[in-house]
Amino acid sequence: MIEVRGESHLKRPGGARSPVGLSLLRGRAGPALALLAALLIAGRESVAADITVIGTVRDRNRGHVVLSAVIKLVDRSGTMIGSTSVNAQGQWQVTIPVTGIDAPGEVPKTFSLEQNYPNPFNPSTKIPFAVTTAGIVRVAVHNILGQLVDAREYDLRPGSYFIDWRTKGSAGALFYSIEMNGHRLTKKMIQLDGGNFGGLGGSIPAAATSSYRLSMPQLLDSCRVITSSLVYETDTMTVALVDSAMVNVLLESVHDRAFVIDLHNDVMEVITRTGYAYQLADRHTSDHTDIPRLRDGGVDAQVFSLWVSEKNYPKGTHFSTAMKFLDTLKAQAARNSEDLGFVVRSDSVDALARQKKIAGIFVVEGGHCIEDKLENLLAFYNAGVRIMTITWNNSTSWAVSAADSRTDVVGLSDFGKQVIRTMDSLGMIIDISHVGRKTVDDILATSKNPIVASHSGAYALRVHSRNLTDSQIRGIAQRGGVIGVVFYPPFLTSGTATLDHVLNHIDYIKSIGGIDCIALGSDFDGFSSAPPTGLKDVSQFPSITSALLQRGYSREDVRKILGENFMRVFRAVCK
Ligand SMILES: [Zn+2]
Repeated sequence: MIEVRGESHLKRPGGARSPVGLSLLRGRAGPALALLAALLIAGRESVAADITVIGTVRDRNRGHVVLSAVIKLVDRSGTMIGSTSVNAQGQWQVTIPVTGIDAPGEVPKTFSLEQNYPNPFNPSTKIPFAVTTAGIVRVAVHNILGQLVDAREYDLRPGSYFIDWRTKGSAGALFYSIEMNGHRLTKKMIQLDGGNFGGLGGSIPAAATSSYRLSMPQLLDSCRVITSSLVYETDTMTVALVDSAMVNVLLESVHDRAFVIDLHNDVMEVITRTGYAYQLADRHTSDHTDIPRLRDGGVDAQVFSLWVSEKNYPKGTHFSTAMKFLDTLKAQAARNSEDLGFVVRSDSVDALARQKKIAGIFVVEGGHCIEDKLENLLAFYNAGVRIMTITWNNSTSWAVSAADSRTDVVGLSDFGKQVIRTMDSLGMIIDISHVGRKTVDDILATSKNPIVASHSGAYALRVHSRNLTDSQIRGIAQRGGVIGVVFYPPFLTSGTATLDHVLNHIDYIKSIGGIDCIALGSDFDGFSSAPPTGLKDVSQFPSITSALLQRGYSREDVRKILGENFMRVFRAVCK
């Protein structure tokens, strides 16, 4: 979508008239010759007043200079007038050559006057001229002393005309002028004999021709300034051109314009590790997540994981601990209600987005937290949890994990299928990251809803039990589900991971499952090893957008990956 943005400021520098001709003659002639010179100059004046359009391009939300911007100026018909790119200060300039200008005292565009000199006449002649706009035309004839001999006004439509002139006044040089809209052109004619035979004709014939004999080029009165850049939404604004124009454009990045959601974040682990001291409101230099950095990252919604370590918390406390984590995150949101709200429905996400707040969504990561009881699943739902990862790395009595050696042979128990059907009927999203292969197959056979893999990569690129095989990618995609591509380096590659590795997994999953199944699932704060180079924390999500655009993803596809694909699932399941 192209939107008109920015502001235009017009300014008028001094005119572009040159007094050179007059100064050459000054002081060497009497008053009559000086007048003659002035009149001749008025008739000869040819103005070349170039129009300069200058501007700046800045990021709408962050204020910094947009260095990569390209500026194109086009006229109303779309014809290119000029183009340039911004300099290191974010400034640009385009000069449009113009050969005339419609301003008082300068050669006008509204009419033309033909010279009939040296065609001597007696007793009569015709004065030819043309007008391009309707209005009052004043024709005046002066003698060489500057005395008015005759003058008349005519109300004319656009067209070419002749005015009859019959001898009036003394023989000699006369100067006839035509004036319209404050402009005047003057030409010289010779009257061979004196006398008084009427002067200017009282009426003139209707326009002899519909074509104007206009010597001035059609002037630009406006142009469109199109500002574009790879990672910004294109901006188009119409600018009035008088003599110059200044165009300050604020571009919005594709990333900022898009709805951005990350499907997996473990900052709750940081909060517990710090004895509940870690505040989301504060900007931290450690760890990966806080509100200021989520803002920097342009994150509109974040799925927060409630992960209860099966080993660190004794059996029988997993449900209550997950509930405690939920309350902790809700309390952080309540303390930062200007920035963060928790949502259970897609329309609440939309409402928070309109208020420029971050929407938090809860996921219980690991089915062990329901402690084999459907009432605990219901309690999670009632408390606001909208996603459950069916297993973490530990299997439950009813579902086998991907880390389990039985991954290919054992799946859901009957109770496990009941859990899946209950989630479907409640409107809870099934997450199969960490889940064993046979269990995923059983889930796809049991659930009627689209499912997600919130934080996984492609097995074909990196052999790891946490990654998805091609058939799993196809299975999720065919059901209308999404895969949040993970940033955790060991799932991406064998050595040091970079932003490019994340993109490689996106490319691959797209090649198998199509563009509609891709999302982002960073797993930020879910790992203590170094994050990928170029993705150090939640502030760097815009780098994903830039990289996708550089790889040739369309803006539409980028918006799908950043958020639209997951929101499609959220709307379908969490009605
Ligand atoms: Zn995980």
